[in-house]
Amino acid sequence: MPEKKIPETKNKASAPIYDCLVVGAGISGLTAADHLQRSGWNVAVLDKARGAGGRMATRRKKVNPDWANPVWANPVWDHGAQYMTVRTPVAQALLDQWRANMPEPDYGQLQDWYNLAPSQDQHSVRWIGTRGMTTLPKYLAASLTTFFETRIVNIGLQSFSRAFLWELTADDGRQFRGQNIVLTMPVPQAVVLIEASQETLKDLGSAFNTTAFESMKSIQYDPCLAVLAELSSPSNIPPPGFVEFRDSPETANAPLAFLGDNYQKGISSAYTVTLHGSPEWSKAYFDAAETEITHQLIQAAAPWLDISQHNLSQVISTQLMRWRYSQVSKKNASTSFPEGFCTLSDEPGLLLAGDGFGGPRIEAAILSGLSAAKALTSTNKIPAIKV
Ligand SMILES: Cc1cc2nc3c(=O)[nH]c(=O)nc-3n(C[C@H](O)[C@H](O)[C@H](O)COP(=O)(O)OP(=O)(O)OC[C@H]3O[C@@H](n4cnc5c(N)ncnc54)[C@H](O)[C@@H]3O)c2cc1C
Repeated sequence: MPEKKIPETKNKASAPIYDCLVVGAGISGLTAADHLQRSGWNVAVLDKARGAGGRMATRRKKVNPDWANPVWANPVWDHGAQYMTVRTPVAQALLDQWRANMPEPDYGQLQDWYNLAPSQDQHSVRWIGTRGMTTLPKYLAASLTTFFETRIVNIGLQSFSRAFLWELTADDGRQFRGQNIVLTMPVPQAVVLIEASQETLKDLGSAFNTTAFESMKSIQYDPCLAVLAELSSPSNIPPPGFVEFRDSPETANAPLAFLGDNYQKGISSAYTVTLHGSPEWSKAYFDAAETEITHQLIQAAAPWLDISQHNLSQVISTQLMRWRYSQVSKKNASTSFPEGFCTLSDEPGLLLAGDGFGGPRIEAAILSGLSAAKALTSTNKIPAIKV
């Protein structure tokens, strides 16, 4: 069993050596860290953002703490993933375990938004968080050692007691040491980080899996332009609160892919809607001006927002979110990595996990993080080094 956590100090010589450093507090990184910690590993999770969730993202506009008073309603938007579906027994078991342990008053809960929409013929529970899609990530992060606002810019290697030790450097110079690393950011971002660290990774010699690294480079993501709008009255979006525009050759270049009503979903006490641009349209307009993007998406959604081309008075405010990496687009990503994650080095462990290795869904990201963590615990590699 590893030793208990050693508090971090500024003195590098006495700074803790983690059994594993997980980069990314999205759902894959949190699932991996949760499993490792439950297996007795000493883990730290590092994320460049201010909080947990990654693409399970919820935005809140603080207006008034009096949630019950609709005049002072608090606008909330799920602006990344909208819901989670679970199709495998492994993910279902994890979900059941998390739900059973989630103390509602502190973190919120997971609940089903709907399981059969009028336009659909397949029953499948769409899980959402009662406090938005960040509900689950926030709950998982709360019991882990986390370092937010920590953007990792370099992976280094130290030779230590006849073994290698990873040393991750953040953009403000802070360093974190660990015996294994799991990187969980979108794959193109991981490729940039690894390429920036090539000089040090050369020290691994043939232990670095160049073939896997080259395969990773073909994993691509669709962008998604998202507009978050606040309305003065309810939207025309039919119950249960969404309109999905099916992907077809005729609609590929149409602006809208999805319209979600956060008020009907039950996460916002104000009338807010989330508008997601389609992959092709988002690609074409990714660098366009905010006013242009917002105008086009709002106009495309006009019938559901109860507005006309010349009367936008129902729209109180808008914000734009540009997701450069939203959902994995390369269909063969999972066939290149049948284990659902990627091992770039066995000893010391350098693994990659996330939806890039499993498919464009939260469930795939969960399974990827879990598989990577199980691969580490099964080799029982900890802890060679303790200071
Ligand atoms: C608009 C949109 C709609 C979607 N809709 C759905 C849906 O309805 N249902 C569904 O199942 N899935 C949906 N998805 C996909 C789903 O959100 C993802 O598959 C899943 O959340 C990916 O989780 P992850 O942990 O692999 O990656 P992420 O959530 O991206 O987590 C990676 C983390 O790494 C951090 N990071 C990146 N670089 C660094 C660095 N250098 N240093 C430190 N930290 C770093 C990031 O801040 C981030 O928190 C959607 C995604 C988007 C964007």
